[in-house]
Parts: sequence; structure tokens; C-alpha cells
Amino acid sequence: MSLKNWHIDPTWTLFLDRDGVINRRLEGDYVKRWDDFEFLPGVKEAIALLSKHFRYIFIVSNQQGIGKGIMTHDDLGIIHEKMVQEITEAGGRVDHIYYSPYLESEDHFMRKPNVGMALRARKNHPGLIFKKSFMVGDSLTDMIFGKRVGMKTVMIEDNPNLPRKYPKLMDFSCNSLVAFAAIIHN
Ligand SMILES: [Mg+2]
Repeated sequence: MSLKNWHIDPTWTLFLDRDGVINRRLEGDYVKRWDDFEFLPGVKEAIALLSKHFRYIFIVSNQQGIGKGIMTHDDLGIIHEKMVQEITEAGGRVDHIYYSPYLESEDHFMRKPNVGMALRARKNHPGLIFKKSFMVGDSLTDMIFGKRVGMKTVMIEDNPNLPRKYPKLMDFSCNSLVAFAAIIHN
């Protein structure tokens, strides 16, 4: 199965995980301030390309650092404001950022792999169809989230064999969002 077979057109929606897809994931730590936030190479330009191809682009991000009291909603708001500003300056677009402040242990409906953030996005954006949506993430949690509502899933991972290992969870894998954008664009 190649991405081309899905006949992606501008009625499709793109859901992006944040840490490990847009910015460098910090092992064992949270991005607590803008100084901690590092765009992965080429990602801003990739989002600019993807913005031409998708009706909506959303970020769906678990941020349990808030639930742990390590950072606040305002801290995260500042990071997201600056992130979106840089993406916009590069010619890209983010239609909305959904994030979950809840702890993993709470198993909250609004925390991935539960589907609350996806349902909220659909409620707020008429014309959003999950079957014509991608979830792009770097963890199995993201893949489960996407599959639970019927999205196509793309794992950001430098291992092309992963979809064969988890055929029900992921449709495709790419080593970066840049590689995904290149496939969509060409
Ligand atoms: Mg991630």
C-alpha cells in the first residue's frame, strides 16, 4: 500500500503529534519553555508544503507536564504561540492545537490514545472526516488514537518494517515529517 493509493485531495485532514514529529523529543523531560523547543530540521518548510494539500492541520499533543505541576497552561500557551508564529512565517498553517494536560495514570478521555481530542476537532470543524484524515506520530499511542476513529496512520520512525509488525495499527512509516510531506507533495 502506498500513500498514493488513497487519492489524497484537499478535503483531507492532517493530525500531527508534536513531540518527536515537529520538535525534538526530550528524553525523560518536558518542553517547559520556548528555549527547550527545537524544531526538527526542515519541519517548518514541510508544514508549509502540507498546508497546500490539507483542508485542516491540527496538532494533538499529550502534555502531562501540566498535570504533574512541572509547567502551567500559560507556559504551554507561550510555547505554542511562538511555535505557530514560526510555522506561519515559514508559510505554513496550524488550524488548531489540542493538548491534554492529564496524567497518564488518569486514563482521561481527552488523553491519547483515548479519542477525546479527535472528537472535539470533528465537532468544531464541519467537513472533517476521519476516514479522510491522517494521524502522524512517533509513538504507538498516536497510532492507536488514530485507528480508534478510523484515520490512516503514519509512524515517524526510521524503520520501514514497522507497519508489517503492527499491520492493524499503522498504515505507513516515514523517518520524518519532511519525508512524509515530500511523498504527499510529489
Ligand atoms: Mg510524540
